[in-house]
Amino acid sequence: TPIVHLDEVGKSYGNVHALRGVSLAVRQGEITCVLGDNGAGKSTLIKIIAGLHEHTDGVLSVNGEVRRFGSPRESLDSGIATVYQDLALAPLMSVWRNFFLGNELTKRFGTLDATKMKRITGEELTKMGISIPNLEQPVGMLSGGQRQCIAIARAIFFGAKVLILDEPTAALGVKQSGVVLKYIVKARDAGLGVVFITHNPHHAYLVGNHFIVLKLGRVALDTHRAEITLEQ
Ligand code: ADP
Ligand code: ADP
Repeated sequence: TPIVHLDEVGKSYGNVHALRGVSLAVRQGEITCVLGDNGAGKSTLIKIIAGLHEHTDGVLSVNGEVRRFGSPRESLDSGIATVYQDLALAPLMSVWRNFFLGNELTKRFGTLDATKMKRITGEELTKMGISIPNLEQPVGMLSGGQRQCIAIARAIFFGAKVLILDEPTAALGVKQSGVVLKYIVKARDAGLGVVFITHNPHHAYLVGNHFIVLKLGRVALDTHRAEITLEQ
């Protein structure tokens, strides 16, 4: 069964229908790509799942339970981690403090002292192949790609069930995009259900299992990798 399920979900801002009749199943161990031009409704969809906006129509369920998130906290507490494009991590906070904000997600650890948090952060980032020489430096000094990777590593380590990625490669070059795409696959292989929002069909095709194209707030295409064939 899908971990997050949207059934005919709609969202209106006054008389602007940002989303209409959107159905979508997010399954663990799958990357669901959501594609669409500007204004198609991608941010609105993220905001509903992340608890920033309430939907105005239809049903959102998590683990088979009908939900209506009133705050980001409620979404996070349901195991849904959201990584935003520009705010992947808190820029003024050190790398290790940012990493340990993930503890909020599952309370995997109780209170730990700074030395221990720093050590665990170093060990985990190294294990996942992310090399950050100085864990005390503010995250804002890192590249956009590094920030995305740390945010994904954090969600995996702290046991998120669902990872929502808001255009994680939009501001990156070819090489950094490749690294971030590799991390998206790692999250999938760790068993998370990944929602990969992008306007880049190439990036979607490289990693996706399932593809949803939004157009003017509606699902214009819903297809699985197995249904895409390169043969004539
Ligand atoms: P995307 O992320 O795909 O660019 P959005 O979800 O931001 O799309 O926007 C979908 C539609 O809803 C657009 O027509 C946009 O102008 C409108 N919209 C988004 N947010 C608001 C808002 N807060 N108030 C009014 N209209 C909005
Ligand atoms: P929130 O409701 O999450 O606080 P905003 O309403 O400020 O966020 O805007 C969310 C997004 O929707 C932004 O990307 C913004 O550009 C867009 N937006 C906000 N108001 C409108 C609007 N009236 N028409 C179209 N897009 C809008």
